[in-house]
Amino acid sequence: MTSDTNLRHTDDAALAPDTAWQTEIRAGVRHVRDLASLPLSPGERAAAQAAASNHKVRIPKTYLDLIDWNDPADPIRAQVIPSPDELAEQDGELDDPIADHEFSPVPRLTHRHADRVLLFPTYQCAVYCRFCFRKESLTSIGRGYTREALEPALAYIADHPEIREVILTGGDPLSLPDKALAEIRARIEAIAHVRLLRIHTRVPVALPSRITSGLVTALRGRLMVTVVTHFNHPREITDATEQACRMLRQAGFVLLNQSVLLKGVNDTVEVLEELCRELMYRLGVKPYYLHHGDLARGMAHRRTTIAQGQALAGALRARLSGICNPVYVLDLPEGGGKVPIGPCYVEGREGESWRLRGLDGEVRGYREVVGE
Ligand SMILES: *Cc1c(COP(=O)(O)O)cnc(C)c1O
Ligand code: SF4
Repeated sequence: MTSDTNLRHTDDAALAPDTAWQTEIRAGVRHVRDLASLPLSPGERAAAQAAASNHKVRIPKTYLDLIDWNDPADPIRAQVIPSPDELAEQDGELDDPIADHEFSPVPRLTHRHADRVLLFPTYQCAVYCRFCFRKESLTSIGRGYTREALEPALAYIADHPEIREVILTGGDPLSLPDKALAEIRARIEAIAHVRLLRIHTRVPVALPSRITSGLVTALRGRLMVTVVTHFNHPREITDATEQACRMLRQAGFVLLNQSVLLKGVNDTVEVLEELCRELMYRLGVKPYYLHHGDLARGMAHRRTTIAQGQALAGALRARLSGICNPVYVLDLPEGGGKVPIGPCYVEGREGESWRLRGLDGEVRGYREVVGE
């Protein structure tokens, strides 16, 4: 049984029954059957039901409207419309690609690095991305928020003074009603050793009208707040997403972005360059990570090789300013954490003499000079 409390919480007094974002959800794709009215290819149509049983389908209207239906390879379409390729699972793909479960001491919490934890207030999202690395959990757990479900995780955080950062992820925490968010924020900020509240969300991208003054008020309190968005393509940057990000920035929240490197979506230097520039210069969102596609099942068709990713990361480093550059990382299976896998600029070393490759590609010598 799933308790689908997100996105259609009707007993939330703070929300009028017909806010703009609720209309966006209602007018979008909410079930696999809603795909029937879209101009899908015969292959997409045939795969939709089977793909949706592995990973739900949901696309808010604003995001759906970004799709250019004349382009079968449209990068927005590729992120949300189920593809027959998803049904071709490969050896080596994993249900839990980054070992969330192995490092979960209590339900709804993952603790892999001493100073920070992932907290899962909900396993539901405003949009379901086909490439999601957590899709197995979203399908098998699938539950929304309840106060009781978070109690063991909050008790765990209170018992571990080394935890300074609580990362709300999921699912999408910003798909929850304001009242639930205010409650979660208040419980976390009551734990004295927690310093920072971080929110990992695709809502500013896929459902920007959900970013309201009520939401900002729900999140604002004692804690430093960082919102990590998830833009993958420059076409996702619109007047609506700009307005959503401006509201979050003006609230004093720090904005970062993580992207997933996806074949056919953003695996060219031109697309990534424009994405990173527009994130920083138009939205005021600092590109944080570029994730190598992880081993989520049925996603081989969207993965690049690491060598391709390194070439892209190297080109970005040469073209973009430091603040526009994300770090190219791989989240290792079995809980090794996120490690940088970008190109290496060290070509060799003999004693204090190093050979280093410059951004122009030329290898130069550098001799270390240090005092006693
Ligand atoms: C990604 C992740 C974090 C956050 O890592 P940062 O490098 O600080 O962004 C924390 N815990 C787990 C388990 C993670 O997967
Ligand atoms: S919003 Fe995040 S958690 Fe939800 S489906 Fe997309 S990638 Fe997965």
